Amino acid sequence: MKPATSHLMRAYARQPVSFVRGSGALLWDEQGVEYLDAIAGVAVTSLGHAHPEIAAVIAEQAGMLLHTSNVFRIDWQERLGESLCALTGMKRAFFCNSGAEANEAALKLARLHAHRKQVAQPMILVMENGFHGRTIATLSATGNPAKQQGFEPLLPGFLRVPYNDIEAVRRVAAQESDIVAVLIEPVQGEGGIRVASADYLRELRALCDQHGWLLMLDEIQAGMGRTGAWFGHQHAGITPDVMTLAKALGNGFPIGACLARGVAADLFSPGQHGSTFGGNPLACRVACTVLDIMARDRLPERAAVLGARLLVGLQNALGDHPNVTAIRGQGLMAGIELDRHCKELVGRALAEQRLLITVTRDTTIRLLPPLVCGEAQIDDIVVRVARLLSPIVLDGAATATEVTRQEPVL
Ligand SMILES: *Cc1c(COP(=O)(O)O)cnc(C)c1O
Repeated sequence: MKPATSHLMRAYARQPVSFVRGSGALLWDEQGVEYLDAIAGVAVTSLGHAHPEIAAVIAEQAGMLLHTSNVFRIDWQERLGESLCALTGMKRAFFCNSGAEANEAALKLARLHAHRKQVAQPMILVMENGFHGRTIATLSATGNPAKQQGFEPLLPGFLRVPYNDIEAVRRVAAQESDIVAVLIEPVQGEGGIRVASADYLRELRALCDQHGWLLMLDEIQAGMGRTGAWFGHQHAGITPDVMTLAKALGNGFPIGACLARGVAADLFSPGQHGSTFGGNPLACRVACTVLDIMARDRLPERAAVLGARLLVGLQNALGDHPNVTAIRGQGLMAGIELDRHCKELVGRALAEQRLLITVTRDTTIRLLPPLVCGEAQIDDIVVRVARLLSPIVLDGAATATEVTRQEPVL
């Protein structure tokens, strides 16, 4: 491997592994060593690596037309908007190239909504532990002081409340009359795999209706089938006013979307928002193909089945582990919280178990396997995570009986 990354800004703490090829849930490094991918490029490659239909559509479209700009009509963009609206109950779409940009569009909609209502200093409710991106506005909405530190002054106009706590929302609603929108993830991914309860989301919907707030759901990580429904909020049977997508929408080809219905759908007028690359023919055709494949292969349903298998497997293998404080998840979003900082487990999982995992919030192992995993691969993830965690028991000077309990019961 080439050692020098000295001309790259040090924005990332990178693992010393470089992959050259993939297939489904498998990856191979420069030495030809095989790895099992339990993070899917952080919830992006849900159809697996090198999906033949995605590869073919990219090649075909690249040979026809990549980009014309939004000065012109773009047929694939209109088709993608139609498909996404049919799937979500939304009315209109705006396309961009990333999750942060999708949330920027949502935040701009909230500001326009406010000014229509003559609210001069609008406030948007956001959640503790929430994650919405790294631009200045989305970083300001993000509930993680560690990620915000050094970038002050942040943008004003956000009010933060604890997640999953409807009384906290009621309290700020009683005190603050300039709230115009709520921005929330149905499952907090970066925040440690925390699932919003269905009751909470329904009550939040009712409060938004009562006060005329826009309910804006950040489905960038939880959407596109990952939680076992097409979109995370569908478990609660609600419909948002605005929702944002990115990550798995292009299976690795960059694309983001901001969808809206009701008043929010008609807020932008020509010139008020835009993106040079957003909604180009290639990105939109890839996303249309991703939607077709997910529907045809029933991948949201598959994520529900595999996700249940993953959670039960993790419970059986690690439920009694002395250092595991919680195992949480919905569909193929799973978190294993430990009683200690465990960032070093990412490197150890690669080196010792040939397994790709991430650690979020310092103490939570996050698993986001591709939705096309086989049952045996899900079981294999459980086995490798259990093996990875067994020495932690020894570090903690636990007894031999506790060590023997680490063998997964599958
Ligand atoms: C990843 C993520 C984002 C940011 O997406 P980018 O494409 O990295 O800008 C925003 N919100 C959530 C919930 C995410 O998981």
